[in-house]
Amino acid sequence: MSDKIMQNRLDRGFEKYREEFEEAALRVLRSGWYVLGPEVAAFEEEFARYTGAKYCVGLASGLDALWLAFRVLGIGKGDEVIVQGNTYIASVMGITINGATPVFVEPDEFYNMDADGIEEKITDRTKAVLAVHLYGQASDMEKIAGICRKYNLRLVEDCAQSHGAAVHGKMTGTFGDIGCFSFYPSKNLGAFGDAGAIVTDNAELAKSMKMYRNYGSEKRYYNKVVGANSRLDELQAAMLRVRLAHMDELTEERRETAERYTRLIQNEKLILPKVRQGVTHVWHQYVVRTEQRDELAAFLDANGIGTIIHYPVPPHLAEAYAYLGYRKGAFKRTEQYADTVLSLPMYSGITPEEQGKVIEFLNAF
Ligand SMILES: *Cc1c(COP(=O)(O)O)cnc(C)c1O
Repeated sequence: MSDKIMQNRLDRGFEKYREEFEEAALRVLRSGWYVLGPEVAAFEEEFARYTGAKYCVGLASGLDALWLAFRVLGIGKGDEVIVQGNTYIASVMGITINGATPVFVEPDEFYNMDADGIEEKITDRTKAVLAVHLYGQASDMEKIAGICRKYNLRLVEDCAQSHGAAVHGKMTGTFGDIGCFSFYPSKNLGAFGDAGAIVTDNAELAKSMKMYRNYGSEKRYYNKVVGANSRLDELQAAMLRVRLAHMDELTEERRETAERYTRLIQNEKLILPKVRQGVTHVWHQYVVRTEQRDELAAFLDANGIGTIIHYPVPPHLAEAYAYLGYRKGAFKRTEQYADTVLSLPMYSGITPEEQGKVIEFLNAF
């Protein structure tokens, strides 16, 4: 076996726009200004425009975007936030860092929050819903936003995997109060280190977020609240600007890869991903499901194809959340997904030959 096909590789994404990245990096290094400066301001404006939101505030990570979102909304101890059970643990930590309690709902067949499961979870402590657009597919946002309006709940979106995904043309991140983004290197819009942002149409929330990200100060050394250090740096912002300018092309490349997988993988042991009517999927991950998941992963590995499980342990069963008191069996569909999902190779710069080999071995399994 010659070159192994990895589940993800970031060097290809760098090579694609190498000259632009290098030029932008040198521009920042030579500028003498490295944190919260003109590159960050320009990126915030460009990313707000890209999503259609009024404001964007650059932050240090996706987790910061999440916990600071709940912080500026005033959600904390004694409050409940409804979230899907099968998310990445960061979504849940964004809630619990503030002392609030996550209340889980089961996912639908698209791996997103089952909107029909929300209402039965609402109590008089419920303050917000956190919708996660998992694997890159937009959630059923019109229905979820409708429920939030009906019960006067805040709506936060975890868009760490959904840059550019939309529902009937409206971008994820713009349906509720705050949209939270991660630009971790492996995300669809990835930096070369940690980075994140929120988008909002609410000027007060944007202002508050800018204060929180910089030690709670609007004016230097005059601190209004106990904030954080969650400043985005100029180098990351400059790299993100390069990639954002190519975002449509990058998304199209993922879409074509996914389309090829869906068209050519034919194996009745596998359940391929489905896309909800009216929403777009930006294919952060291409996730298949099978009862023989571990055998499939081992078979692919033996044939030089890497895969990853997103995610093997659902948050309610994570050691970190033992204090919530859930046992195995509490969320059957969530747990079933954790036991059966497998993410195939998907990255910027994946070649047709690599795709072909992935398809060949999935069909051979
Ligand atoms: C990556 C990710 C996050 C966290 O982002 P970081 O930048 O790693 O802090 C949150 N939620 C989801 C769904 C993610 O995939």
